[in-house]
Amino acid sequence: MEKKNRIALVTGGSRGLGKDMALRLAEKGIDVIVTYNSQAGEAQKVATQIEQSGQKAAALQLNTGEIGSFDAFIVRLKETLDKQFGSDRLDFLINNAGIGGYSPVAELTEEFFDQLLNIHFKGVVFLTQKMLPLINDGGGIVNISSGLTRVSMPGSSIYGSLKGAVEVFTRYLAKELGVRKIRANVVAPGAILTDFGGGHLRSNEQLQQMVSAITALGRPGVAEDIGGVVAFLCTEDARWVNGQRIEASGGMQV
Ligand code: NDP
Repeated sequence: MEKKNRIALVTGGSRGLGKDMALRLAEKGIDVIVTYNSQAGEAQKVATQIEQSGQKAAALQLNTGEIGSFDAFIVRLKETLDKQFGSDRLDFLINNAGIGGYSPVAELTEEFFDQLLNIHFKGVVFLTQKMLPLINDGGGIVNISSGLTRVSMPGSSIYGSLKGAVEVFTRYLAKELGVRKIRANVVAPGAILTDFGGGHLRSNEQLQQMVSAITALGRPGVAEDIGGVVAFLCTEDARWVNGQRIEASGGMQV
């Protein structure tokens, strides 16, 4: 009988960290579905690159901040799994999609708070809930947090707090899903040069110098520093790693 590949879904897999995660998962022999919010072309390029490497891949639209759209997404996901992957389930969910957002507490608006809340926490909770029946027993969930839950930077209070909520939620997932042998872990990147926050870090040399100064390895991160850590968590080598927060920040303020 043909051995079935494992399948991962990476939210926000069109660019940045999610793209590297998708490519590194494929290198491990895992088929990948990437989601995107608006950049369909970029997501399709990632899927094509994965297919060229010999794995199956697909790209689906999903706004992770629009909880009301999740039921329709699950229907499209099931169709895609059936038609393109010959499967009714998948193995790994990587909750990666996110936006940068900075505001001092004194200037915080409810609108900004709700936007970050929906994308960074409420969406993660309810997408995970709706995906649970589709995840094979023995699979895994990786939630992407941030070094900003441990290191406080002015302007990131809400973002950091919501990522902190994701970290606590992940421990509860590990506890509740252990019965199904589904592992749940957090990867917390340090500051990485991506499009994140409108390329906030990439376009600000002073900020890069500040990050380098507080990082033991002396530079900001790049996407390629992160994808392999997530891919590792989706292998047998990580089968005993559960309910953990793994920070990949080059030793930021250690
Ligand atoms: P990028 O801005 O480079 O990429 C963001 C990705 O998320 C894109 O694929 C984008 O899709 C998708 N996305 C954005 N908003 C939504 C939405 N509302 N619904 C669905 N998808 C969405 O960011 P990064 O790759 O840097 O960030 C990825 C994750 O890593 C985030 O959770 C972020 O908080 C976290 N992180 C980032 C750090 C950094 O310094 N870069 C540090 C620590 C954590 P599209 O291409 O269609 O717009």
